[in-house]
Amino acid sequence: MLQDALGRRFYYLRLSITDVCNFRCEYCLPDGYQGRPEDAFLSLPEIQQTLTAFAALGTEKVRLTGGEPSLRRDLPQIIEMAASTPGIRQVALTTNGYKLPKNVDRWQQAGLTQLNVSIDSLDRQQFHDITGHDRLDEVLAGVERAVALGINTKVNALLMRGLDDQLPSFLDWLKHTPVTLRFIEVMQTGDQQVFFRQHHRSGQGLKDELLDHGWQPVLRARDAGPAEEFWHPDYAGRIGLIMPYSPDFCDSCNRLRVSSTGRLHLCLFTEQGLDLRPWMQADVDPQQLQQRLVALVQHKAPSHLLHQGDSGATSNLSIIGG
Ligand code: SAM
Ligand code: SF4
Repeated sequence: MLQDALGRRFYYLRLSITDVCNFRCEYCLPDGYQGRPEDAFLSLPEIQQTLTAFAALGTEKVRLTGGEPSLRRDLPQIIEMAASTPGIRQVALTTNGYKLPKNVDRWQQAGLTQLNVSIDSLDRQQFHDITGHDRLDEVLAGVERAVALGINTKVNALLMRGLDDQLPSFLDWLKHTPVTLRFIEVMQTGDQQVFFRQHHRSGQGLKDELLDHGWQPVLRARDAGPAEEFWHPDYAGRIGLIMPYSPDFCDSCNRLRVSSTGRLHLCLFTEQGLDLRPWMQADVDPQQLQQRLVALVQHKAPSHLLHQGDSGATSNLSIIGG
């Protein structure tokens, strides 16, 4: 089992498989993707080595993320690989959703068990303004299909000042849509300091509003991550809140991240990443990657330093996948 010096155990890996993205979300890649060519990203054999090493050390859940992971043509093979790695019980994907209607059936057949789709607004014009794409209808159709297939589906919406009218339309939608909608506070990144200052809004006010309107806290599952969730008897869906600026947010951290170029990130907001790629190669004894992971995890910091305005080396979240 991977465990750090503070006794936190890591059974959840977030694996980024590409930095490339076709959207231009204003808080993430406002000028679109500007980076490396695709061949810089982890190959299938490197991904297999990584999955095998993490699983041997107790990882039970893998989330594939990016960039936009559905831009990789071999995504079904990667899902299959994760699902068939002994020890991995859940395979999740975080996506902007634009390929969902066409591909979600295939992804489920490959072994996908959980889906997170990012939708910041149910207003078509607002969605377009935020992402640079007029694709809300397709994304919603994809969510509907995922739900019909029985995939455990969550929707991520960034809580932003200036989008104060988000809640009523989402509430209407949740009445009949059995998904968990998670509002995430905007986090400060190196590239987006001004956006952060203008748009960050605490989730505490929303939490108070939900409690006042009969929403009740859900008991936390072991792999629930940092979201506080709420349910209401009149709604098919649930609401979650992710408030990284609240005290103790990092105490229950159960995740590690590997970037699309094979760097281990012990936290979303600290170092540049610790290189694992040489240990992912086929001619290297797989035990060596495991030994390196066990040693590196000891250095995980107790908490991020976002409260002090320090976002570490993280210039935007497309690099590590959020
Ligand atoms: N492209 C995929 C997507 O958008 O779902 C996966 C990668 S994206 C970086 C993962 C998540 O990070 C998205 O839900 C996105 O809203 C969130 N995100 C990006 N930048 C953020 C920021 N500055 N603060 C908080 N969340 C952010
Ligand atoms: Fe792309 Fe996701 Fe970043 Fe939006 S949040 S620009 S969809 S990586």
